[in-house]
Amino acid sequence: MLTEQEALEHILTSVTPLPPRSVPLREALQSYAARAVHANIPLPGFDNSAMDGYAVRAEDTRTAEPLRVIGATAAGEISSITLEPHTAIRIFTGAPMPPGADAVIMQEDVSTDTEKKSIVCKEPVEPGENVRVLGCDLCVGQRIVDKGEPLNAARLAVLASQGLTHIDISEVPRIAVVTTGDELIPPGEPLPPGKLYNSNGIMLEAMLRSAGVTSPITIHHLRDNLEETVAALRQLTQRHDFIILSGGVSVGEHDYIKPALKALGVPAEFWRVKVKPGKPVLFAKTSTLSRPCHLFGLPGNPVSSHVTFHLFVRPALLKVLGAGAASLGLPRVNATLTRAMKNRGDRPHYIRGFHEDGKFTPTGVQQSHALFSLSRANAFLRMEPEQDLPEGAAVQALLCD
Ligand code: AMP
Ligand code: MG
Repeated sequence: MLTEQEALEHILTSVTPLPPRSVPLREALQSYAARAVHANIPLPGFDNSAMDGYAVRAEDTRTAEPLRVIGATAAGEISSITLEPHTAIRIFTGAPMPPGADAVIMQEDVSTDTEKKSIVCKEPVEPGENVRVLGCDLCVGQRIVDKGEPLNAARLAVLASQGLTHIDISEVPRIAVVTTGDELIPPGEPLPPGKLYNSNGIMLEAMLRSAGVTSPITIHHLRDNLEETVAALRQLTQRHDFIILSGGVSVGEHDYIKPALKALGVPAEFWRVKVKPGKPVLFAKTSTLSRPCHLFGLPGNPVSSHVTFHLFVRPALLKVLGAGAASLGLPRVNATLTRAMKNRGDRPHYIRGFHEDGKFTPTGVQQSHALFSLSRANAFLRMEPEQDLPEGAAVQALLCD
């Protein structure tokens, strides 16, 4: 049985980002840059005023002598007038600095004489004051987005500031979610005795969306039947880059994922990982003519599906989407444990809990079927086998959604 680290390394060596494609910036939010982009326009692009006020020579503001206002300039205009000593030019935020001026005095800091068309400075300004200097934020040639970096609103804006309309991101993977089980009924239908509603379908689709998948996700459900499973997987592997299966990967007589893969000649690259919950997780890879298809068999218990998705599917998916190595793991935060915990098992146990104000509190029942307690959690605590943690222990929680 592989350790989590071995399983994850195996998966991450198997998956590679899809080829880049150029998309309009407005379609790139939450994607990852497929290549680095460098600035070709400095920010600011020219010296300009940070305030509504008067462009002046700073030395002229140190006396109470009135300064003659010889013109005005607004954002988008280039002043044709050069500032002479003891004069001022009315200026508005974002307007290029007129030649000869080295500072801007805020309009609140002058008294104006509209008849004489002059101002008197109430407060002196220093050279450079209220001036946004060319290139002080960003220089030409500086890297503005690195390969693998997530594109948030501000990064899209900085790309737009360069005059760019498009950015290269990795092509989006084609993904199928496949739930299995004769006992499962789609929500919305009557519930016969002994059956339960399919909740993993929506959960896995939502987790894919949370991880940044924007492409259509196809949703399927299979009965516990070998022929049906073989036929479905044969078809689905032709058309998808990722297939996320839930259930049917254990050793029961109704578990058909492994036999179906065997019948298709697709060996599991690994099956079973030393982790709780989620031990029977399976990973396989097959190639069609064009590109590989990765299959993740997640155990059907909702918490097992959830935890193994976070541990194994999410990093693989993020890598395919073009995320850099630093973004693949779950974010970690320091926390204090609010109650004593012991892991009596021989596998690392991912405890579901609630992290708030630097405290981690386990949420309810910690068994792999306990969907409600999972739904109250926003973090995991990974406990080593046999680990004993007292109340108040300093731990690291892994943030999950
Ligand atoms: P399996 O991994 O197929 O043996 O399923 C393990 C447990 O998870 C069983 O109790 C199933 O009823 C339950 N289960 C499997 N798939 C789902 C699903 N899609 N939604 C809710 N529960 C499920
Ligand atoms: Mg089943």
